[in-house]
Amino acid sequence: MSERTFSIIKPDAVKKGDAGAILAEIVKAGFKIVSIKKISISKSQAEGFYHVHSARPFFGELTEFMSSGAIVPMVLEKDNAIADLRKLMGATDPAKAEAGTIRKMFAASIGENAIHGSDAEDTAAFEIGYFFAGLELK
Ligand code: ATP
Ligand code: MG
Repeated sequence: MSERTFSIIKPDAVKKGDAGAILAEIVKAGFKIVSIKKISISKSQAEGFYHVHSARPFFGELTEFMSSGAIVPMVLEKDNAIADLRKLMGATDPAKAEAGTIRKMFAASIGENAIHGSDAEDTAAFEIGYFFAGLELK
């Protein structure tokens, strides 16, 4: 069944000029880009986005990083989009990511790992609504 998920090309990848190559991998894997933009967010906006991690020791580092430069948030659609994007991204730690995954190819460390992808239906719905208005989601 066709499903939507949410993704962000993170500041490390945008800074390195890898956004286009990462988008090419996403499209090659069969995802339709429903909506996409290039923006930057404040630390408090990053804290709102990653609120589920607020008690984790890396929360400060994570939100500092996510607000450190331009990001490319997007809404993607395909059958089984949520699980398939997680597979395409690879493990959180690029050192543990499988060959051919985006994090293996483009990420440098567990903190700066090139891409975000929603991990479940409820988080995808929250994350899409956090970054995109209804008018941007035809
Ligand atoms: P994301 O939510 O960004 O798609 P993920 O679902 O693979 O990544 P999470 O456990 O949700 O991983 O962690 C969110 C983000 O927090 C990670 O992508 C990474 O940038 C950062 N992070 C996770 N664990 C660590 C850690 N041990 N040290 C530093 N940063 C971390
Ligand atoms: Mg996550």
